[in-house]
Amino acid sequence: MNPERRYAPLSALQHFVYCERQCALIHLEQIWINNRLTAEGNLLHEKVHEESEESRPGMRLVRGLPVVSETLGIIGQCDLVEFLSSRKRSSKASEKWEAVRPVEYKRGRPKSHEADLVQLCAQAISLEEMLGIPITEGALFYGEPRRRTSVSFTPELRATTIQTAQALHALLDRGVTPPALYRASLCRGCSLLSVCLPRRRETPAQAGNWFRDALNQILMES
Ligand code: SF4
Repeated sequence: MNPERRYAPLSALQHFVYCERQCALIHLEQIWINNRLTAEGNLLHEKVHEESEESRPGMRLVRGLPVVSETLGIIGQCDLVEFLSSRKRSSKASEKWEAVRPVEYKRGRPKSHEADLVQLCAQAISLEEMLGIPITEGALFYGEPRRRTSVSFTPELRATTIQTAQALHALLDRGVTPPALYRASLCRGCSLLSVCLPRRRETPAQAGNWFRDALNQILMES
């Protein structure tokens, strides 16, 4: 990691898992374009990143908590951190918390890729460093359906998160944006599709295959 750029934004981990080129366009080339999905996500996070604290019996809820990790070299903010105690009484500053649980809010549905899991695990690793206690579980709250999904911070997920952070820093240190690779499942939902133009970078043979497949599809549907 370049010592002059010690910390990367937490969000860069998520962008990196989604698509390395997307991550480089945003964090190296400073290109950001909103589409409906990102605008909805921004609105959601504007609400949940408003710093606030709330106490309930046996629980303290902290929203918008800033976090940093030396291990990962990242800095960011947690949507919500729940500090839990088995003692059913109001929290005090001196209370010993028995569990700490980061919760991340996401628009849409659970994804087939690991971007959300890695982002949440990075928050857990950051909190462990800051608070000096082990964190075993967190949660992702998706808007469709409105449901909370528990996430265990397994050794495998932790290893993936650390490797992702190392690969992210290597990308940022290299400073070279990777070439585009069209993957329909990712590119169709990517807000940078119009500037990335992944199909332009396909070889004539690939483009020909795509055109033939699209034509066959049209003919089958007609
Ligand atoms: S359009 Fe596709 S290749 Fe380009 S940045 Fe987005 S996801 Fe990556």
